[in-house]
Amino acid sequence: MMYDPEAIYQDADIEQAEMEREGRRLAALEKRGTCTHGRVIGIGEDGVAHYPEAVGLVHPQVKCDRCGRVFADDDDWLQAIDNLR
Ligand SMILES: [Zn+2]
Repeated sequence: MMYDPEAIYQDADIEQAEMEREGRRLAALEKRGTCTHGRVIGIGEDGVAHYPEAVGLVHPQVKCDRCGRVFADDDDWLQAIDNLR
């Protein structure tokens, strides 16, 4: 990120606009009833479940705390969010 005193829009403005666009995309999906998997629960490498929802998971799996979908790992989870249409 860079501040350019000559620019009308700064990198931070562009980044903010991108985050707002992503927020609108996810909000529209939620409105249609699609789970956007906004929060997941994982389990430690030691296999200890600190939340009841994590019981049965194998590290590095993570599980959506709304719909219960299990993802192979964080990358799989984030890719699934990107792929939501
Ligand atoms: Zn979900």
